[in-house]
Amino acid sequence: MPLEKQEEALKKLATGYPVQYIIGDVDFCGNIIKVNESVLIPRFETEYLVENLLFYLRRYEYENPKILEVGTGSGCISIALKKSTECSIDAIDISKRAIEVAKDNAQKNNTEINFICEDIASFTSKNKYNVLVSNPPYVSPNEEVDEKTKYEPQNAIFAKDNGLYFYNLILEKCPSLMASKNIIAFEIGKDQAESIKAKALSIYPKANIIVRKDINNFDRYLFIINE
Ligand code: GLN
Repeated sequence: MPLEKQEEALKKLATGYPVQYIIGDVDFCGNIIKVNESVLIPRFETEYLVENLLFYLRRYEYENPKILEVGTGSGCISIALKKSTECSIDAIDISKRAIEVAKDNAQKNNTEINFICEDIASFTSKNKYNVLVSNPPYVSPNEEVDEKTKYEPQNAIFAKDNGLYFYNLILEKCPSLMASKNIIAFEIGKDQAESIKAKALSIYPKANIIVRKDINNFDRYLFIINE
């Protein structure tokens, strides 16, 4: 990096600007993922969403699942899944600029993913998916967040209805999008498990719902298993 750029970068860092945007990429599940201000910076916790989902795919004997990712952002989750298991993936995001970054990332990581720029609210598909995975915006607008998040796309972080908006929307759409045997995998906010569980059971009363914790011992992942 030329000296001039270095000085500029240091100034930005001093204001709390995320180092990942300055470096320009992050490691996610062993893949190099390009990031810029169009996409949320992948979090370490989200690697465990992928790991746990891969575990359940094996445990419930999914072969070649059709996967839908909602709110793909940089594409990191879909890329990690595609690298680790035989599957086909449709990945949607409302942001055109995020989809551009995700496409670039998929190409750089030699993975084939079908990216679609669309709002989940209007999304329909002829495909019946076996798996849905999402790390949607889940922070309540009045919750305190790390200073650095102000540089990230705010619509990738905050969601109305106490952060529950996208879980409710996605779950309501699931019967029309998903095969009857399916797995729905969410990253969740630490106080949201009970509400999401109740919503999931109102749609899938017989579902097996598993909540798992992150390394800080917060509820962070919720899996809805429909057999
Ligand atoms: N977990 C992220 C944060 O702490 C938020 C990402 C999200 O809402 N999915 O900022």
